[in-house]
Amino acid sequence: MKVLVLGSGVIGVTSAWYLAKSGHDVTVVDRQSTVANETSFANLGQISPGYSAPWAAPGIPIKAMKWLVQELAPLKINMKDLDAETLVWMTKLVANCNGKDYHINKSRMMRVAEYSRYCLQALRAEINIEYDHRTQGTLQLFRTQSQVKSAKKDIQVLNECGIDHKVLTPDDCLAYEPSTSSYYS
Ligand SMILES: Cc1cc2nc3c(=O)[nH]c(=O)nc-3n(C[C@H](O)[C@H](O)[C@H](O)COP(=O)(O)OP(=O)(O)OC[C@H]3O[C@@H](n4cnc5c(N)ncnc54)[C@H](O)[C@@H]3O)c2cc1C
Repeated sequence: MKVLVLGSGVIGVTSAWYLAKSGHDVTVVDRQSTVANETSFANLGQISPGYSAPWAAPGIPIKAMKWLVQELAPLKINMKDLDAETLVWMTKLVANCNGKDYHINKSRMMRVAEYSRYCLQALRAEINIEYDHRTQGTLQLFRTQSQVKSAKKDIQVLNECGIDHKVLTPDDCLAYEPSTSSYYS
């Protein structure tokens, strides 16, 4: 089959790779003169499958209202371009911003994320791509008890899905990463 992939970010390029491997005739088109020149160009480079979480989470509707008036916000909604399709999508998103649906959605994301991790490992081995990578995991720090409390729902999903993780005390954090001492002063 002839396939046209629009966009040469990480998603377009990897989709094209797997489609071509499956025997399809693939062409990738991008408005930029080179591949991965937009969002995929300068992100943090962090691959954290266990950290994947749905945007639709308890508390997000309130935060989104604040983001609307912030200049630098993680989510931008252009009110002028709101169409019926986007409104339906937003309604569904808000309807999923509750503990029960968050749990279901995060559990599903965990399964996809773990599968993606194994695909990435296989791809790396196959094409022998070289880059600096570290696999110590990430240390997620919480400043308030309410943040710790809201992380409990994520920890429950990690436990249920068998995702490797540790819950640390402040002393454990210091032992892992002495520079966190500045948070206790
Ligand atoms: C600041 C920042 C930090 C991030 N850090 C991380 C991280 O640490 N770990 C992580 O996993 N994710 C991170 N992300 C998210 C991650 O970078 C994106 O999810 C990912 O790059 C998206 O890839 P993409 O291929 O979907 O989109 P893009 O990389 O944006 O690719 C889309 C491509 O489509 C092209 N295009 C769009 N419209 C057209 C058109 N009409 N005609 C032709 N071409 C078009 C664009 O030129 C672009 O090349 C970060 C994102 C940001 C912004």
